[in-house]
Amino acid sequence: MLTALTSGGKQVVLTRQSSLTSLREWRKNETYYCPQCKEQVLLKVGDIVIPHFAHLKQTTCRDSFSEGESPTHLLGKIQLYELFSQLHLQTKMEPYLPAIRQRPDLLVTWQNEQIPIEFQCSTIPIARILERNAGYHTVNMLPIWIVLTPPKIQDSSAFVLAYQLTQFQQHFIRHIHSSTKEKLSVFLTYNPSKQQFHYLSHFIHLRGTAFAMCHSVMRIKHQTIPFAIPATPSRKDIEDLTRQYQSARRKYLRSVIGYNQRGIHHRFLRACYEMRMQPIQLPAWIGVPTFGQAAFTESDCEWQLLLIAAIRQTRCTPFQLNRSTLHSFVKTFEGDSSLQLEACQNYVDFLREQRIDIYRMDKFMRRDFVLEILSGRFLAMHARN
Ligand SMILES: [Zn+2]
Repeated sequence: MLTALTSGGKQVVLTRQSSLTSLREWRKNETYYCPQCKEQVLLKVGDIVIPHFAHLKQTTCRDSFSEGESPTHLLGKIQLYELFSQLHLQTKMEPYLPAIRQRPDLLVTWQNEQIPIEFQCSTIPIARILERNAGYHTVNMLPIWIVLTPPKIQDSSAFVLAYQLTQFQQHFIRHIHSSTKEKLSVFLTYNPSKQQFHYLSHFIHLRGTAFAMCHSVMRIKHQTIPFAIPATPSRKDIEDLTRQYQSARRKYLRSVIGYNQRGIHHRFLRACYEMRMQPIQLPAWIGVPTFGQAAFTESDCEWQLLLIAAIRQTRCTPFQLNRSTLHSFVKTFEGDSSLQLEACQNYVDFLREQRIDIYRMDKFMRRDFVLEILSGRFLAMHARN
Protein backbone atom coordinates (compact mmCIF):
# COMPACT_ATOMS: atom_id res chain seq x y z
CA MET A 1 0.00 0.00 0.00
CA LEU A 2 1.01 3.59 -0.62
CA THR A 3 -0.74 5.40 2.20
CA ALA A 4 -0.42 5.41 5.98
CA LEU A 5 -1.20 7.64 8.96
CA THR A 6 1.48 9.30 11.10
CA SER A 7 1.30 9.13 14.89
CA GLY A 8 -0.26 12.58 14.66
CA GLY A 9 -3.03 11.17 12.45
CA LYS A 10 -1.82 12.87 9.26
CA GLN A 11 -2.19 10.92 6.01
CA VAL A 12 0.94 10.30 3.96
CA VAL A 13 0.90 9.28 0.30
CA LEU A 14 4.04 7.93 -1.28
CA THR A 15 4.62 9.43 -4.70
CA ARG A 16 7.76 9.90 -6.74
CA GLN A 17 8.19 13.40 -5.36
CA SER A 18 9.94 12.15 -2.25
CA SER A 19 13.54 11.01 -2.70
CA LEU A 20 14.79 7.77 -1.20
CA THR A 21 17.04 9.71 1.19
CA SER A 22 14.18 11.79 2.51
CA LEU A 23 12.02 8.67 2.85
CA ARG A 24 14.78 7.02 4.90
CA GLU A 25 14.85 10.14 7.08
CA TRP A 26 11.06 10.00 7.53
CA ARG A 27 11.34 6.40 8.55
CA LYS A 28 13.80 7.23 11.33
CA ASN A 29 11.68 9.98 12.79
CA GLU A 30 8.13 8.75 12.38
CA THR A 31 5.95 5.75 13.14
CA TYR A 32 3.27 4.84 10.61
CA TYR A 33 -0.11 3.20 11.08
CA CYS A 34 -2.51 1.45 8.73
CA PRO A 35 -5.45 3.80 7.96
CA GLN A 36 -7.83 0.87 8.26
CA CYS A 37 -6.87 -1.39 11.17
CA LYS A 38 -4.66 1.21 12.87
CA GLU A 39 -1.92 -1.37 13.42
CA GLN A 40 1.65 -0.28 12.92
CA VAL A 41 3.04 -0.53 9.39
CA LEU A 42 6.59 -0.37 8.09
CA LEU A 43 7.81 2.04 5.47
CA LYS A 44 9.81 -0.13 3.12
CA VAL A 45 12.46 1.72 1.15
CA GLY A 46 14.99 -0.13 -0.97
CA ASP A 47 17.02 0.58 -4.06
CA ILE A 48 14.98 -1.76 -6.21
CA VAL A 49 11.57 -1.97 -4.57
CA ILE A 50 9.08 0.83 -4.94
CA PRO A 51 8.69 2.49 -1.52
CA HIS A 52 5.53 1.20 0.15
CA PHE A 53 3.98 0.45 3.51
CA ALA A 54 3.51 -3.07 4.81
CA HIS A 55 1.84 -4.41 7.95
CA LEU A 56 4.25 -5.33 10.71
CA LYS A 57 2.43 -8.56 11.44
CA GLN A 58 -0.27 -10.58 9.79
CA THR A 59 -3.67 -9.00 10.17
CA THR A 60 -7.10 -9.68 8.74
CA CYS A 61 -6.92 -6.28 7.10
CA ARG A 62 -4.63 -7.66 4.45
CA ASP A 63 -7.43 -8.83 2.14
CA SER A 64 -8.86 -5.47 1.41
CA PHE A 65 -5.43 -3.95 1.14
CA SER A 66 -4.11 -6.61 -1.21
CA GLU A 67 -0.64 -6.70 0.23
CA GLY A 68 2.02 -8.30 -1.84
CA GLU A 69 1.02 -5.93 -4.60
CA SER A 70 3.41 -6.25 -7.49
CA PRO A 71 5.89 -3.44 -8.17
CA THR A 72 4.06 -2.86 -11.46
CA HIS A 73 0.80 -2.32 -9.61
CA LEU A 74 2.39 0.09 -7.13
CA LEU A 75 4.15 2.00 -9.89
CA GLY A 76 1.01 2.25 -12.05
CA LYS A 77 -0.99 3.46 -9.07
CA ILE A 78 1.53 6.20 -8.31
CA GLN A 79 1.65 7.33 -11.95
CA LEU A 80 -2.14 7.42 -12.26
CA TYR A 81 -2.37 9.31 -8.95
CA GLU A 82 0.07 11.86 -10.30
CA LEU A 83 -1.84 12.13 -13.58
CA PHE A 84 -5.11 13.01 -11.86
CA SER A 85 -3.41 15.38 -9.42
CA GLN A 86 -1.75 17.18 -12.31
CA LEU A 87 -5.17 17.53 -13.94
CA HIS A 88 -6.17 19.36 -10.72
CA LEU A 89 -8.69 16.75 -9.68
CA GLN A 90 -9.19 15.80 -6.08
CA THR A 91 -7.66 12.33 -5.92
CA LYS A 92 -7.54 9.93 -3.01
CA MET A 93 -5.07 7.06 -2.84
CA GLU A 94 -6.52 3.75 -1.61
CA PRO A 95 -9.44 5.33 0.27
CA TYR A 96 -11.59 3.00 2.33
CA LEU A 97 -15.31 3.21 1.53
CA PRO A 98 -16.96 1.95 4.73
CA ALA A 99 -20.48 1.73 3.26
CA ILE A 100 -19.38 -1.01 0.87
CA ARG A 101 -16.20 -2.05 2.66
CA GLN A 102 -14.15 -1.64 -0.49
CA ARG A 103 -10.92 0.10 -1.22
CA PRO A 104 -10.45 1.27 -4.82
CA ASP A 105 -6.90 1.98 -5.95
CA LEU A 106 -7.86 5.60 -6.49
CA LEU A 107 -10.94 7.74 -6.04
CA VAL A 108 -11.13 10.73 -8.34
CA THR A 109 -13.64 13.53 -8.04
CA TRP A 110 -14.71 14.81 -11.43
CA GLN A 111 -17.62 17.21 -11.92
CA ASN A 112 -18.98 16.44 -8.43
CA GLU A 113 -18.88 12.74 -9.14
CA GLN A 114 -16.65 10.27 -7.39
CA ILE A 115 -15.08 7.80 -9.78
CA PRO A 116 -13.22 4.75 -8.44
CA ILE A 117 -10.21 3.82 -10.57
CA GLU A 118 -8.99 0.24 -10.49
CA PHE A 119 -5.67 -0.69 -12.03
CA GLN A 120 -5.88 -4.43 -12.59
CA CYS A 121 -2.57 -6.18 -13.09
CA SER A 122 -3.42 -9.79 -12.36
CA THR A 123 -6.13 -12.07 -13.65
CA ILE A 124 -8.73 -12.59 -10.94
CA PRO A 125 -12.08 -14.40 -11.19
CA ILE A 126 -14.63 -12.35 -13.14
CA ALA A 127 -17.06 -12.99 -10.27
CA ARG A 128 -14.88 -10.85 -8.00
CA ILE A 129 -14.92 -8.01 -10.48
CA LEU A 130 -18.70 -8.20 -10.76
CA GLU A 131 -18.89 -8.19 -6.97
CA ARG A 132 -16.79 -5.05 -6.72
CA ASN A 133 -18.78 -3.35 -9.49
CA ALA A 134 -22.01 -4.27 -7.69
CA GLY A 135 -20.61 -2.68 -4.53
CA TYR A 136 -19.81 0.56 -6.35
CA HIS A 137 -23.23 0.45 -7.96
CA THR A 138 -24.98 0.49 -4.56
CA VAL A 139 -23.28 3.81 -3.76
CA ASN A 140 -23.92 5.18 -7.28
CA MET A 141 -20.33 5.05 -8.42
CA LEU A 142 -19.26 4.00 -11.88
CA PRO A 143 -15.73 2.59 -11.69
CA ILE A 144 -13.14 2.75 -14.45
CA TRP A 145 -11.01 -0.35 -14.79
CA ILE A 146 -7.63 0.00 -16.40
CA VAL A 147 -5.89 -3.26 -17.20
CA LEU A 148 -2.14 -3.78 -17.36
CA THR A 149 -1.08 -3.84 -21.03
CA PRO A 150 -0.57 -7.47 -22.14
CA PRO A 151 3.10 -8.20 -23.07
CA LYS A 152 2.31 -8.93 -26.73
CA ILE A 153 0.59 -5.57 -27.10
CA GLN A 154 3.31 -3.75 -25.15
CA ASP A 155 5.92 -4.82 -27.67
CA SER A 156 3.87 -4.18 -30.77
CA SER A 157 4.25 -1.04 -32.82
CA ALA A 158 1.52 -2.07 -35.29
CA PHE A 159 -1.58 0.10 -35.65
CA VAL A 160 -3.63 -2.91 -36.69
CA LEU A 161 -3.15 -6.40 -35.35
CA ALA A 162 -4.83 -9.74 -34.78
CA TYR A 163 -4.91 -10.81 -31.14
CA GLN A 164 -6.65 -13.34 -28.94
CA LEU A 165 -8.49 -11.67 -26.08
CA THR A 166 -9.02 -13.89 -23.04
CA GLN A 167 -12.48 -13.99 -21.44
CA PHE A 168 -10.98 -11.90 -18.64
CA GLN A 169 -9.73 -9.23 -21.03
CA GLN A 170 -12.99 -9.24 -23.01
CA HIS A 171 -14.78 -8.47 -19.77
CA PHE A 172 -13.07 -5.05 -19.62
CA ILE A 173 -14.05 -3.92 -23.10
CA ARG A 174 -16.15 -0.79 -22.68
CA HIS A 175 -18.92 -0.12 -25.16
CA ILE A 176 -19.25 3.54 -25.83
CA HIS A 177 -22.68 4.31 -27.17
CA SER A 178 -23.05 6.15 -30.38
CA SER A 179 -26.27 7.05 -32.13
CA THR A 180 -26.36 3.90 -34.24
CA LYS A 181 -26.54 0.19 -33.55
CA GLU A 182 -22.79 -0.16 -33.91
CA LYS A 183 -21.01 0.79 -30.68
CA LEU A 184 -17.44 1.90 -30.30
CA SER A 185 -15.74 -0.71 -28.12
CA VAL A 186 -12.57 0.16 -26.27
CA PHE A 187 -10.17 -1.88 -24.17
CA LEU A 188 -8.10 0.56 -22.13
CA THR A 189 -4.76 -0.70 -20.87
CA TYR A 190 -1.83 0.98 -19.16
CA ASN A 191 1.86 0.16 -19.19
CA PRO A 192 3.72 1.74 -16.22
CA SER A 193 7.21 0.87 -17.44
CA LYS A 194 6.74 2.93 -20.61
CA GLN A 195 4.29 5.34 -18.96
CA GLN A 196 1.77 5.01 -21.72
CA PHE A 197 -1.78 3.87 -22.35
CA HIS A 198 -2.38 1.28 -25.05
CA TYR A 199 -5.85 1.38 -26.55
CA LEU A 200 -7.36 -1.57 -28.35
CA SER A 201 -10.49 -0.75 -30.31
CA HIS A 202 -12.52 -1.34 -33.48
CA PHE A 203 -12.70 -5.06 -32.94
CA ILE A 204 -13.60 -7.33 -35.84
CA HIS A 205 -14.28 -10.86 -34.69
CA LEU A 206 -12.27 -13.51 -36.53
CA ARG A 207 -12.89 -16.81 -34.82
CA GLY A 208 -13.02 -18.09 -31.24
CA THR A 209 -11.35 -15.43 -29.08
CA ALA A 210 -9.35 -13.92 -31.96
CA PHE A 211 -10.10 -10.42 -33.19
CA ALA A 212 -8.56 -8.00 -35.64
CA MET A 213 -8.29 -4.59 -33.97
CA CYS A 214 -6.77 -1.15 -33.98
CA HIS A 215 -3.98 -0.39 -31.53
CA SER A 216 -3.04 3.12 -30.48
CA VAL A 217 -0.69 4.49 -27.86
CA MET A 218 -0.99 7.60 -25.71
CA ARG A 219 1.70 8.89 -23.37
CA ILE A 220 0.34 9.42 -19.86
CA LYS A 221 1.24 13.11 -19.99
CA HIS A 222 -1.21 13.58 -22.88
CA GLN A 223 -4.10 11.83 -21.16
CA THR A 224 -7.19 13.85 -20.27
CA ILE A 225 -10.38 13.46 -18.25
CA PRO A 226 -12.68 11.99 -19.42
CA PHE A 227 -10.25 9.54 -20.98
CA ALA A 228 -9.47 10.16 -24.62
CA ILE A 229 -11.33 8.01 -27.14
CA PRO A 230 -9.54 6.44 -30.12
CA ALA A 231 -9.93 8.32 -33.38
CA THR A 232 -11.79 7.02 -36.43
CA PRO A 233 -9.44 4.61 -38.20
CA SER A 234 -7.74 5.95 -41.30
CA ARG A 235 -8.36 4.51 -44.75
CA LYS A 236 -5.07 2.63 -44.43
CA ASP A 237 -6.06 1.18 -41.03
CA ILE A 238 -9.33 -0.09 -42.50
CA GLU A 239 -7.43 -1.62 -45.42
CA ASP A 240 -5.16 -3.37 -42.91
CA LEU A 241 -8.14 -4.62 -40.89
CA THR A 242 -9.67 -5.92 -44.13
CA ARG A 243 -6.44 -7.75 -44.94
CA GLN A 244 -6.38 -9.31 -41.44
CA TYR A 245 -9.98 -10.39 -41.84
CA GLN A 246 -9.46 -11.87 -45.32
CA SER A 247 -6.32 -13.69 -44.27
CA ALA A 248 -8.10 -15.23 -41.25
CA ARG A 249 -10.95 -16.26 -43.59
CA ARG A 250 -8.54 -18.01 -45.96
CA LYS A 251 -6.74 -19.66 -43.04
CA TYR A 252 -10.02 -20.98 -41.71
CA LEU A 253 -11.04 -22.42 -45.09
CA ARG A 254 -7.66 -24.09 -45.50
CA SER A 255 -7.76 -25.47 -41.96
CA VAL A 256 -11.21 -27.11 -42.20
CA ILE A 257 -9.96 -29.29 -45.03
CA GLY A 258 -7.77 -30.90 -42.38
CA TYR A 259 -10.93 -32.10 -40.67
CA ASN A 260 -11.78 -34.25 -43.69
CA GLN A 261 -11.24 -37.48 -41.77
CA ARG A 262 -14.34 -36.83 -39.71
CA GLY A 263 -15.70 -34.36 -42.22
CA ILE A 264 -19.26 -35.50 -42.03
CA HIS A 265 -19.36 -34.66 -38.31
CA HIS A 266 -18.13 -31.15 -38.93
CA ARG A 267 -21.18 -28.95 -39.49
CA PHE A 268 -19.42 -26.66 -41.94
CA LEU A 269 -17.98 -29.48 -44.05
CA ARG A 270 -21.27 -31.34 -44.08
CA ALA A 271 -23.02 -28.21 -45.39
CA CYS A 272 -20.32 -27.81 -48.07
CA TYR A 273 -20.79 -31.44 -49.06
CA GLU A 274 -24.56 -31.08 -49.29
CA MET A 275 -24.13 -28.03 -51.51
CA ARG A 276 -21.59 -29.95 -53.61
CA MET A 277 -18.88 -27.38 -52.97
CA GLN A 278 -15.26 -27.45 -51.82
CA PRO A 279 -14.63 -25.18 -48.78
CA ILE A 280 -12.02 -23.28 -50.75
CA GLN A 281 -14.66 -22.42 -53.38
CA LEU A 282 -16.87 -20.70 -50.81
CA PRO A 283 -18.35 -17.64 -52.55
CA ALA A 284 -17.06 -14.27 -51.34
CA TRP A 285 -20.52 -13.33 -49.99
CA ILE A 286 -20.25 -16.03 -47.31
CA GLY A 287 -17.85 -15.10 -44.52
CA VAL A 288 -18.57 -11.39 -44.41
CA PRO A 289 -18.05 -9.04 -41.41
CA THR A 290 -21.59 -7.66 -41.22
CA PHE A 291 -22.92 -5.81 -38.13
CA GLY A 292 -23.03 -7.86 -34.93
CA GLN A 293 -20.98 -10.81 -36.26
CA ALA A 294 -19.11 -11.14 -32.94
CA ALA A 295 -22.27 -12.68 -31.43
CA PHE A 296 -21.03 -16.00 -32.80
CA THR A 297 -17.74 -17.53 -31.65
CA GLU A 298 -17.61 -19.46 -34.94
CA SER A 299 -15.95 -18.00 -37.99
CA ASP A 300 -18.31 -15.92 -40.15
CA CYS A 301 -17.77 -18.49 -42.94
CA GLU A 302 -19.21 -21.16 -40.69
CA TRP A 303 -22.36 -19.60 -39.26
CA GLN A 304 -23.21 -17.78 -42.46
CA LEU A 305 -22.88 -20.91 -44.60
CA LEU A 306 -25.02 -22.83 -42.08
CA LEU A 307 -27.58 -20.05 -42.20
CA ILE A 308 -27.66 -20.23 -46.00
CA ALA A 309 -28.14 -24.00 -45.73
CA ALA A 310 -31.00 -23.51 -43.24
CA ILE A 311 -32.73 -20.98 -45.50
CA ARG A 312 -32.30 -23.25 -48.52
CA GLN A 313 -34.00 -26.04 -46.62
CA THR A 314 -37.13 -23.91 -46.31
CA ARG A 315 -36.92 -23.26 -50.10
CA CYS A 316 -37.23 -19.54 -49.44
CA THR A 317 -35.16 -16.61 -50.63
CA PRO A 318 -33.78 -13.99 -48.21
CA PHE A 319 -36.74 -11.85 -49.25
CA GLN A 320 -39.36 -14.42 -48.23
CA LEU A 321 -37.58 -15.51 -45.07
CA ASN A 322 -39.69 -16.29 -42.03
CA ARG A 323 -38.35 -14.99 -38.71
CA SER A 324 -39.01 -18.37 -37.07
CA THR A 325 -36.34 -19.89 -39.35
CA LEU A 326 -33.82 -17.56 -37.73
CA HIS A 327 -35.13 -18.37 -34.24
CA SER A 328 -34.65 -22.10 -34.65
CA PHE A 329 -31.31 -21.51 -36.40
CA VAL A 330 -29.69 -19.59 -33.50
CA LYS A 331 -30.86 -22.24 -31.03
CA THR A 332 -28.22 -24.55 -32.45
CA PHE A 333 -25.42 -22.19 -31.31
CA GLU A 334 -23.97 -21.35 -27.95
CA GLY A 335 -24.05 -17.72 -26.89
CA ASP A 336 -26.51 -14.86 -26.59
CA SER A 337 -29.33 -15.75 -28.99
CA SER A 338 -30.86 -12.28 -29.15
CA LEU A 339 -27.53 -10.85 -30.31
CA GLN A 340 -27.17 -13.76 -32.74
CA LEU A 341 -30.65 -13.07 -34.15
CA GLU A 342 -29.62 -9.49 -34.79
CA ALA A 343 -26.41 -10.66 -36.50
CA CYS A 344 -28.42 -13.05 -38.72
CA GLN A 345 -30.86 -10.29 -39.62
CA ASN A 346 -28.00 -7.98 -40.56
CA TYR A 347 -26.46 -10.67 -42.75
CA VAL A 348 -29.82 -11.37 -44.43
CA ASP A 349 -30.19 -7.61 -45.06
CA PHE A 350 -26.78 -7.71 -46.73
CA LEU A 351 -27.86 -10.62 -48.96
CA ARG A 352 -30.96 -8.66 -49.94
CA GLU A 353 -29.09 -5.44 -50.67
CA GLN A 354 -26.58 -7.31 -52.81
CA ARG A 355 -29.45 -9.17 -54.55
CA ILE A 356 -27.74 -12.49 -53.94
CA ASP A 357 -29.34 -15.66 -55.22
CA ILE A 358 -28.51 -18.11 -52.45
CA TYR A 359 -29.25 -21.06 -54.75
CA ARG A 360 -26.33 -20.14 -56.99
CA MET A 361 -22.76 -20.11 -55.76
CA ASP A 362 -21.24 -18.19 -58.66
CA LYS A 363 -22.30 -14.63 -57.89
CA PHE A 364 -19.34 -12.33 -58.42
CA MET A 365 -18.60 -9.67 -55.77
CA ARG A 366 -16.74 -6.39 -56.29
CA ARG A 367 -13.18 -6.67 -55.03
CA ASP A 368 -13.53 -3.99 -52.37
CA PHE A 369 -16.83 -4.98 -50.85
CA VAL A 370 -15.40 -6.14 -47.49
CA LEU A 371 -13.49 -2.89 -47.21
CA GLU A 372 -16.77 -1.04 -47.82
CA ILE A 373 -18.60 -3.05 -45.17
CA LEU A 374 -15.91 -2.30 -42.60
CA SER A 375 -15.75 1.38 -43.55
CA GLY A 376 -19.52 1.51 -43.05
CA ARG A 377 -19.23 -0.07 -39.61
CA PHE A 378 -16.57 2.39 -38.47
CA LEU A 379 -18.38 5.41 -39.82
CA ALA A 380 -21.44 4.31 -37.87
CA MET A 381 -19.36 3.88 -34.68
CA HIS A 382 -18.14 7.42 -34.79
CA ALA A 383 -21.44 8.95 -35.90
CA ARG A 384 -22.88 11.49 -33.49
CA ASN A 385 -26.41 12.70 -33.10
ZN1 LIG B 1 -4.34 -2.64 8.33
